[in-house]
Amino acid sequence: MNFKFPSSCPSCEETLQVSQLKCNHCETTINGNYPLPIFLQLTPKEQEFILQFFLMSGSLKEMASQLGISYPTVRNQLDDMIEHVKQLQKTTENEK
Ligand SMILES: [Zn+2]
Repeated sequence: MNFKFPSSCPSCEETLQVSQLKCNHCETTINGNYPLPIFLQLTPKEQEFILQFFLMSGSLKEMASQLGISYPTVRNQLDDMIEHVKQLQKTTENEK
């Protein structure tokens, strides 16, 4: 079964943290308090966008034509995501 990876709390919507890591090979478990990597804090839609952007060699023009939307729309989506990432970086920075 393929579980959807949760990035925010279903109860209060705060960003989740990693508290346990486990090796399936030898059953070693590590407990701690690790923030999720920024990429994983993005919404699944944003992660998909970045993946597609990468696979299209970073061409927004190519993205627009593949997704069947206008170039300015893709440009806006990217700008929104850049803002989101900057916000996440700031939050992560403050938690250190
Ligand atoms: Zn192991």
